[in-house]
Amino acid sequence: MALAPAVSGNTINGLGEAARRRPRMVYWAPDPDTIAHGAMQRWFYSATPPDPRFSEMRAWRQTIYDMPLPAVAAAPAQRAPQDWTAALDRFVAEGLCEKAGVAEMREDWVYEGESVAESRIIMLGVQHEHGAIAEAPGIPAAVEVLRQYGRAALAAKTVAGWLREQGWAAEPVSGPMTGTVAMIPPALACGFGELGKHGSIIDRDMGASFRLAAVLTDAPFAPTPPVDHGIDAFCAACRICEDACPPQAIFPEKQTVRGERKWYVDFDRCLPFFNETQGCAICIAVCPWSRPGVGPNLAEKLARRAARMGDQGASERRKTET
Ligand code: SF4
Ligand code: SF4
Repeated sequence: MALAPAVSGNTINGLGEAARRRPRMVYWAPDPDTIAHGAMQRWFYSATPPDPRFSEMRAWRQTIYDMPLPAVAAAPAQRAPQDWTAALDRFVAEGLCEKAGVAEMREDWVYEGESVAESRIIMLGVQHEHGAIAEAPGIPAAVEVLRQYGRAALAAKTVAGWLREQGWAAEPVSGPMTGTVAMIPPALACGFGELGKHGSIIDRDMGASFRLAAVLTDAPFAPTPPVDHGIDAFCAACRICEDACPPQAIFPEKQTVRGERKWYVDFDRCLPFFNETQGCAICIAVCPWSRPGVGPNLAEKLARRAARMGDQGASERRKTET
């Protein structure tokens, strides 16, 4: 806490701001000296426990970050937009990632001071192994997060490399230090799920237990639509993550953040515990949607309930009209 800056991370994030604006980088900056919480970010890495699993996993991840990308082929391949998007299924089928989606790029997802010229963002999701994440906070969970960041980076590099060989420029973006784009908004826009009370996306199949990477390109992919499984309303009636969060960082109600009402985690409360525990992850581990096999059943139950309510509503409306 001696390294905490005078400014609140919630202020940087825009908590309480009614006007829309682009996000500011609050943590995980490629150069920690450029952000107020940079000294705390450096501390996170200096405090890694002397466990060989960390150094081995970080070294493996670094080999992926360092992998060269192929040159862009001279003649761009031509496909219909739907066919470009359908071509991503192969990477999911091969197990490179668990999910892929596409959104048209929007400037308000780009951090202030950064720019993105490409028209499309391909989002890729990789799921944590639940047994390891269930041990959060602890070394197995932290090492699993590192492993999935590595898988996510590999997925982004592979998809970007494939596109370059098809004659389309493509840039991989991987976390946690993405540098340019906030990952959650485009992932929500392209059908990865809904924002949970714990501030992470809840996907129907992966729950909240996954990491994201992206590829920026001008290849004319068809966007994939956002989804609504009723998770937002589910969170309003659930408080498992709220109760499980040791520093009580998860707001029980939605907050106004840069002109939008949404679930929000108190950055200043979360960060010290997050740093002390090498990434915490309790809230994503305890979320019922993260348990293997639970999400699809819950989504179907919520869809049936919504259909019943819809039928009931229609029947009520018919009665009123007659
Ligand atoms: S634990 Fe409950 S309230 Fe928290 S994100 Fe998951 S479903 Fe929503
Ligand atoms: S990561 Fe940990 S400290 Fe932060 S909100 Fe989740 S449970 Fe709370």
